[in-house]
Amino acid sequence: MAGSESLFAVAQRQLDAVAERLGLDRAVHQLLRWPLRELHVTLPVKMDDGRTEIFHGFRVQHNDARGPCKGGTRFHPEETIDTIRALALWMTWKTAVVNVPLGGSKGGIVCNPKVMSQGELERLSRAYVRQVARILGDDLDVPAPDVYTTPQIMAWMMDEYEALQGWRHRPAIITGKPVPLGGSLGRTEATARGGCITVREAAAALGIETKGATVAIQGFGNAGQHAALLSEELLGCKIIAVSDSRGGIINEAGMPAEGLVNHKRETGAVGGFPGSELISNKDLLELPVDVLFPAALENVITEENGPRIRAKISCELANGPQTPEADEILHQNGVFFIPDILANAGGVTVSHFEMVQNISTYYWTAQRVNEELDLKMTTAFHDVYERAQVEKVHMRLAAYMVAVQRVAEAMSLRGWV
Ligand code: GLU
Repeated sequence: MAGSESLFAVAQRQLDAVAERLGLDRAVHQLLRWPLRELHVTLPVKMDDGRTEIFHGFRVQHNDARGPCKGGTRFHPEETIDTIRALALWMTWKTAVVNVPLGGSKGGIVCNPKVMSQGELERLSRAYVRQVARILGDDLDVPAPDVYTTPQIMAWMMDEYEALQGWRHRPAIITGKPVPLGGSLGRTEATARGGCITVREAAAALGIETKGATVAIQGFGNAGQHAALLSEELLGCKIIAVSDSRGGIINEAGMPAEGLVNHKRETGAVGGFPGSELISNKDLLELPVDVLFPAALENVITEENGPRIRAKISCELANGPQTPEADEILHQNGVFFIPDILANAGGVTVSHFEMVQNISTYYWTAQRVNEELDLKMTTAFHDVYERAQVEKVHMRLAAYMVAVQRVAEAMSLRGWV
């Protein structure tokens, strides 16, 4: 049952469904149901008022058969080991779907960054790295930004890691860094750009015109803001509704993406944007738009609201926004959803480009990053879409079939199973 069921149980259930469909070897299936390793850490951090606060964090490495583990680090007050495990599994499938030579992992710290100062965040980030560095490395496991973590946090983490290594430069230890410290051009907008490329391909396959197509965006963090800018710039779409954690706004006539981003930066929220009316997050998801971007957190499209989702295309920029029950409902109702492990894989794809640039010390132009990202995302979309057509299944099951097969092949070639 979604709702009471943990996210990790959902991730395992998704794997079980694909294992059955693929006739996966029992040992392969059992191995993939669990992370290979996980580290739980407890972190004392000096706060600005002189107190020492104790934080808890995790790093979960799900699978590294195809290459070093890769995955973001979340800072969230409701973080749990269970959620991080699910997200680590999804990273393994994500890197396999876009066919980059990496595995899957995820990290998290239970904290509320919204009430912490920059100094406190820096000390927390460094304390985390001092604990998890023993299982990190550009040949072991490479973190990146995720919910409420930023390029600045990646910079502190890299600096702490290098200090532990005797000040040897190891920029590929972490991705999503600021550009002056070895970050890749195009990394910040890569998740949204990749998503827009999959929307472009989906719209072409379904015969939907993107120019003038209506868009609703749930969540206005990094992914949501760039989805607004790029769906307008690359696809010619019209943004009619956006929301953040405080609520949403709508204007059927369309709202300029840049204006929305500036308004959010200046006021801290999307609410109050000139010419717009208020709409709840719940109602925004149910709008009859051409393209919906769930770009916030997990579990927002469920068996409860699934029957009322009327978007033509849903592009999952968030991780895990839709439950397996909702998958079946939307599929039956003809809503074409592009699953998270494909839709938001642009982020980890450019993270891989960032590692390539760090290791070679030769840095690419933005144009090259964007062209190579386009090639990767377009190929991945069609690998999954063709599989969905042949097997007559929805896009999530097809993406899982592609990904799990690639990981299983690598494990078998290594002789693990
Ligand atoms: N946190 C992002 C994700 O969930 C990016 C991960 C990465 O770049 O390693 O895909």
